[in-house]
Amino acid sequence: MQPKTPATDTPLSDETTTLATLRDRVRGFSDDREWGRYHSPRNLAMALSVEASELLELFLWASDDGPQPPVPDRGPKVADEAADVLHCLLSLCDSMDIDLAAAFEDKMRRNAIKYPIEQSRGRLEKSDELGL
Ligand SMILES: [Mg+2]
Repeated sequence: MQPKTPATDTPLSDETTTLATLRDRVRGFSDDREWGRYHSPRNLAMALSVEASELLELFLWASDDGPQPPVPDRGPKVADEAADVLHCLLSLCDSMDIDLAAAFEDKMRRNAIKYPIEQSRGRLEKSDELGL
Protein backbone atom coordinates (compact mmCIF):
# COMPACT_ATOMS: atom_id res chain seq x y z
CA MET A 1 0.00 0.00 0.00
CA GLN A 2 1.31 3.42 -0.97
CA PRO A 3 1.51 5.90 1.87
CA LYS A 4 -0.94 8.80 1.60
CA THR A 5 1.75 11.23 2.58
CA PRO A 6 5.12 9.95 1.45
CA ALA A 7 8.26 11.43 2.85
CA THR A 8 9.78 13.95 0.51
CA ASP A 9 13.28 13.67 -0.91
CA THR A 10 13.96 17.19 0.27
CA PRO A 11 15.50 17.28 3.73
CA LEU A 12 13.48 19.30 6.22
CA SER A 13 15.06 22.03 8.29
CA ASP A 14 13.86 24.58 10.81
CA GLU A 15 14.68 27.32 8.33
CA THR A 16 12.45 26.07 5.53
CA THR A 17 9.74 23.91 7.10
CA THR A 18 6.39 25.21 8.32
CA LEU A 19 4.37 23.82 11.19
CA ALA A 20 1.65 23.03 8.64
CA THR A 21 4.08 20.83 6.71
CA LEU A 22 5.02 18.96 9.87
CA ARG A 23 1.36 18.66 10.94
CA ASP A 24 0.48 17.17 7.54
CA ARG A 25 3.34 14.68 7.82
CA VAL A 26 2.18 13.62 11.28
CA ARG A 27 -1.43 13.33 10.09
CA GLY A 28 -0.40 11.28 7.05
CA PHE A 29 1.74 8.98 9.17
CA SER A 30 -1.22 8.28 11.44
CA ASP A 31 -3.75 7.96 8.60
CA ASP A 32 -1.57 5.46 6.76
CA ARG A 33 -1.61 3.24 9.86
CA GLU A 34 -5.25 3.86 10.75
CA TRP A 35 -4.25 5.01 14.22
CA GLY A 36 -6.77 7.84 14.40
CA ARG A 37 -9.13 5.74 16.51
CA TYR A 38 -6.50 5.75 19.28
CA HIS A 39 -5.67 9.43 19.02
CA SER A 40 -8.15 11.08 21.33
CA PRO A 41 -6.92 14.37 22.81
CA ARG A 42 -6.58 12.63 26.19
CA ASN A 43 -4.42 9.84 24.77
CA LEU A 44 -2.30 12.28 22.79
CA ALA A 45 -1.78 14.46 25.88
CA MET A 46 -0.67 11.38 27.80
CA ALA A 47 1.65 10.35 24.96
CA LEU A 48 3.11 13.86 24.95
CA SER A 49 3.83 13.58 28.66
CA VAL A 50 5.43 10.15 28.20
CA GLU A 51 7.67 11.42 25.41
CA ALA A 52 8.64 14.50 27.47
CA SER A 53 9.58 12.14 30.29
CA GLU A 54 11.69 10.04 27.92
CA LEU A 55 13.51 13.25 26.98
CA LEU A 56 13.97 14.17 30.63
CA GLU A 57 15.26 10.70 31.46
CA LEU A 58 18.27 11.28 29.20
CA PHE A 59 19.42 14.02 31.60
CA LEU A 60 18.65 12.12 34.79
CA TRP A 61 21.43 12.34 37.39
CA ALA A 62 23.42 14.90 35.42
CA SER A 63 25.13 17.52 37.57
CA ASP A 64 24.70 21.21 36.74
CA ASP A 65 28.41 21.62 36.06
CA GLY A 66 28.89 18.27 34.33
CA PRO A 67 28.20 17.05 30.80
CA GLN A 68 24.58 17.09 29.72
CA PRO A 69 23.37 14.54 29.03
CA PRO A 70 25.69 12.80 31.51
CA VAL A 71 26.32 9.82 29.21
CA PRO A 72 27.80 10.83 25.84
CA ASP A 73 25.97 8.09 23.94
CA ARG A 74 22.68 9.73 24.90
CA GLY A 75 23.41 12.84 22.84
CA PRO A 76 21.76 11.65 19.60
CA LYS A 77 18.80 10.35 21.59
CA VAL A 78 17.96 13.90 22.69
CA ALA A 79 17.04 14.80 19.11
CA ASP A 80 14.99 11.60 18.77
CA GLU A 81 13.00 12.32 21.91
CA ALA A 82 12.58 16.00 21.01
CA ALA A 83 11.12 14.83 17.68
CA ASP A 84 8.77 12.46 19.52
CA VAL A 85 7.59 15.36 21.70
CA LEU A 86 6.95 17.51 18.62
CA HIS A 87 5.13 14.65 16.89
CA CYS A 88 2.75 14.20 19.84
CA LEU A 89 2.24 17.96 20.26
CA LEU A 90 1.42 18.45 16.57
CA SER A 91 -0.94 15.48 16.63
CA LEU A 92 -2.69 16.78 19.77
CA CYS A 93 -3.12 20.25 18.27
CA ASP A 94 -4.34 18.75 15.00
CA SER A 95 -6.93 16.64 16.81
CA MET A 96 -8.24 19.73 18.62
CA ASP A 97 -8.04 22.16 15.67
CA ILE A 98 -5.50 24.28 17.52
CA ASP A 99 -3.47 26.58 15.31
CA LEU A 100 -0.19 26.09 17.14
CA ALA A 101 1.57 29.14 15.69
CA ALA A 102 -1.38 31.38 16.61
CA ALA A 103 -1.55 29.84 20.10
CA PHE A 104 2.19 30.40 20.50
CA GLU A 105 1.93 34.01 19.41
CA ASP A 106 -0.96 34.66 21.79
CA LYS A 107 0.86 33.03 24.71
CA MET A 108 4.09 34.95 24.01
CA ARG A 109 2.14 38.21 23.92
CA ARG A 110 0.59 37.40 27.33
CA ASN A 111 3.98 36.27 28.73
CA ALA A 112 5.53 39.59 27.70
CA ILE A 113 2.84 41.40 29.72
CA LYS A 114 3.16 38.96 32.62
CA TYR A 115 6.96 39.30 32.74
CA PRO A 116 7.91 42.89 31.93
CA ILE A 117 11.59 43.06 31.00
CA GLU A 118 12.55 45.62 33.62
CA GLN A 119 11.00 43.64 36.51
CA SER A 120 11.98 40.15 35.41
CA ARG A 121 15.41 40.47 33.78
CA GLY A 122 17.78 38.00 35.44
CA ARG A 123 15.14 36.90 37.96
CA LEU A 124 13.93 33.32 38.39
CA GLU A 125 10.76 34.00 40.36
CA LYS A 126 7.30 33.44 38.93
CA SER A 127 5.26 36.54 38.15
CA ASP A 128 3.23 36.36 41.38
CA GLU A 129 6.45 35.98 43.37
CA LEU A 130 7.76 39.12 41.67
CA GLY A 131 4.67 40.97 42.85
CA LEU A 132 3.45 41.47 39.29
MG1 LIG B 1 10.30 8.45 22.55
